[in-house]
Amino acid sequence: MKIDPEACVSCLGCIDYCPMGCIHEGEVLFIDQDECVECGVCLHTGVCAVDAIYQPEESLVYPRAIRKQFSDPGAEHPNFKAWGRGTEEAKTNDVTGKFSHGEYGMLFEFGRPVTGTRFTEVQKIAMAICDMGIEILKENPVYGLLEDTRTGRIKKEFLHEKVLSVILEIRVRKEQLPAVVEKIIPLLADVDTVVSVGLVTRFEENGSLPVIRDLEKLGMQVRPNAKINVGLGRPLIS
Ligand code: SF4
Ligand code: SF4
Repeated sequence: MKIDPEACVSCLGCIDYCPMGCIHEGEVLFIDQDECVECGVCLHTGVCAVDAIYQPEESLVYPRAIRKQFSDPGAEHPNFKAWGRGTEEAKTNDVTGKFSHGEYGMLFEFGRPVTGTRFTEVQKIAMAICDMGIEILKENPVYGLLEDTRTGRIKKEFLHEKVLSVILEIRVRKEQLPAVVEKIIPLLADVDTVVSVGLVTRFEENGSLPVIRDLEKLGMQVRPNAKINVGLGRPLIS
């Protein structure tokens, strides 16, 4: 995103809208292009009364184009024909049944709230996961950025790109969970942004969630969070 210095009247109204804090005062107001994730908040809110904020063509050119794709909820990933920072698969498991009994969907969400992330940080965890023989889910938008799907290495041209957030998604068999937690969780301390870890599971027949106890034994604090996706249609699973 950019600000037209000829049009801007320096009212400073847009500054507080930027989640990345990258609109700055100088001789004229300007947006730090390296830090801007192209989320579009400053533009879409209509805060600028003189229409000085605009999206230049060069911000939509490869590889910078992925900033908008991962950061602006209205943008599409052309390689997946989907929207957003990750797939909906994990969050809609009650409808899709993508993750069945005996396995978990595991999510690593980078950059939220308000820090953003570069793909150098995503790569650190993607490579460690692949090193365990676990694949990044193909439906996940990050999959399309991989140079090598076996190693989790991301294409060089994307590494420095900064986005609002990214969700890395994997499928973990029940018996793999302790190894994944023990290997991956300590690595998060070396990731230069905030990371939330999510685990998608199905209730047992008796309504229990034994994975909570398993995770607590592994030293993880568990905060159960249920989501009811009303209106998504008839479940594909029984
Ligand atoms: S597009 Fe987003 S990150 Fe960039 S200046 Fe606007 S609000 Fe900030
Ligand atoms: S809201 Fe518009 S006029 Fe006001 S500082 Fe931002 S770009 Fe300039």
